[in-house]
Amino acid sequence: MNGRIARICTSFIDVPDKISVAVYFAGCSIRCKDCQNKDLWDKNSGQLSNTKEVLEKINKHPLAEYVVILGGEPTDQMDFLIDLCKEIKQKNKKPIAIYSGREFEVFPKELLDSLDLIICGPYKSELHVGGWPASSNQRIFRKENEQWQS
Ligand code: SF4
Repeated sequence: MNGRIARICTSFIDVPDKISVAVYFAGCSIRCKDCQNKDLWDKNSGQLSNTKEVLEKINKHPLAEYVVILGGEPTDQMDFLIDLCKEIKQKNKKPIAIYSGREFEVFPKELLDSLDLIICGPYKSELHVGGWPASSNQRIFRKENEQWQS
C-alpha cells in the first residue's frame, strides 16, 4: 500500500526518555491554529512511498526503542497507517507511539491493535503547557496487558 511520507528521522523528544525513529506523515486536514508543523499540511507534499520502503527506512534505526508516527495527521491516511502499523508490529517488533489531532474514541480497532502509546487531541495554543503533551486538552493512552489506560 502507498502513502505520503514527509521524512523519517531519529527523535529524542517525542517519546520521553526514549530514542525513537520518527515517521512524519504528509498532510493534515485538522489545521489547528498555531500548529508548529504547517509545512506538513499539504496532502500532496512529501514522497509517495510504499509500506515496504517505509519499513526498510525504519529498520535503518536499530538503536531506536520506539517507532513514533506523527505529522501532519497520520489518520488522514488511515488505510496506509493501519497497513504500516501492522507491518511494523509483525516485522520490526518495536512498540509504536502515535500523535494524532483526533480523539482516541474514533481510532478503529484494527489500528488500536497495533499501537502501544497514543497522544491524541488537537493542539490548542490557548491551553499550551511547557511540557508533554503540548496542550492540556491532549490525552495520553498507554496499552498495558492488552488494556488501554489513560
Ligand atoms: S493535528 Fe497536528 S499537524 Fe495537524 S494542525 Fe493540529 S498540530 Fe498541526
